[in-house]
Amino acid sequence: MIQLLSSKLPNVGTTIFTQMSQLANQHQAINLSQGFPDFSTDSELLDLANNFIQKGFNQYAPLGGIMGLKEEIARKIENSHQAIYHPETEITITAGGTQAIFTAIATFVKENDEVIIFEPAYDCYEPTVELFGGIVKRFQMKAPDYEIDWNVVKKLVSEKTKMIILNNPNNPSGKILKENDIEELIKIVKDTNILILSDEVYENIVFDGNEHLSICKYPELKERSLLVASFGKLFHITGWKIGYCAAPKALTDEFRKVHQFNIFCVNTPLQMALAEYMKNDEHYNQLSQFFQEKRDFLRQGLAQTSFELLDCEGTYFQALKYGKISDKNDFDFATELTINHKVASIPFSAFYKDKLNENVIRLCFAKKNETLEKAIENLAKL
Ligand code: GLN
Repeated sequence: MIQLLSSKLPNVGTTIFTQMSQLANQHQAINLSQGFPDFSTDSELLDLANNFIQKGFNQYAPLGGIMGLKEEIARKIENSHQAIYHPETEITITAGGTQAIFTAIATFVKENDEVIIFEPAYDCYEPTVELFGGIVKRFQMKAPDYEIDWNVVKKLVSEKTKMIILNNPNNPSGKILKENDIEELIKIVKDTNILILSDEVYENIVFDGNEHLSICKYPELKERSLLVASFGKLFHITGWKIGYCAAPKALTDEFRKVHQFNIFCVNTPLQMALAEYMKNDEHYNQLSQFFQEKRDFLRQGLAQTSFELLDCEGTYFQALKYGKISDKNDFDFATELTINHKVASIPFSAFYKDKLNENVIRLCFAKKNETLEKAIENLAKL
């Protein structure tokens, strides 16, 4: 029998999102764990998808993506952030944000290159860096504020630093970067060859009048950045797995060398549908407002409970501290909450390499109000 002598990712198991969703299904719990909407998307978009399939747009798309979609993305970025990307040479359509991130890391990170990440960190960054022989240096943001101490970050930078990975707005903490964070970041990278991989998949979900400060607004950062975004979050279609990477031509040229062998191209009819749908800005202009109402609905519902609500400035995740309810670690608490109280969540320790436990869990509020209402009812009993 074949013997696998060594795993390339010996410490990686099944993602926490899959684990918790499975546990939720197994125990018929309300699933506020994995981040996906439980309501359907606009029927106009679904009709467009049907039409393009029926009309026969079913063969390969160009390597970088359908031109019409790339043009719409360039227009959206310019309108939102006054930054110019050339659709043909600087925007690449990817199979969701995760593939863009994977390909960006695969393209640029070599053996022993160092990559700085901020924890709590989305789960795909570190394993991907390790897969390509890179070394992860991490800064831990901590509850309740998840602030970044840039003096500490500065000390993580060395001659070997190849890339800094940002996630703004941050999943799972819901924190967004402020002007002073950006200023500090600029100071750190200027006069270096450090690349920035900026995961901004929640860019259109920012609350309380805050502005999303995209990496592309700042020329000193844009020139070295790969900006990643996702239609899954923008149009409630996480299952379509379509996103994009915007980066200056020199970076995109390299990115596409890997992209072409990674997936070659993304499916044609859904790109056509998105291109058409994106012509109307109204389809995403109200997204922050839409999710802010859901956030507030959840927060008001939980205000009288024993959970402590941490700030939520963006994303569709609410962080809860449960220290007054239990002294169990967050993984055990989340498991117990799913099995006994029928609400599935994600423990924050899953986003830290050392499994830092601060008694915080994450709830996804991209759900129908009736789903949130049932969850609030269950959580109020604790
Ligand atoms: N982005 C989603 C979340 O944070 C999960 C996606 C996945 O399951 N890999 O919940």
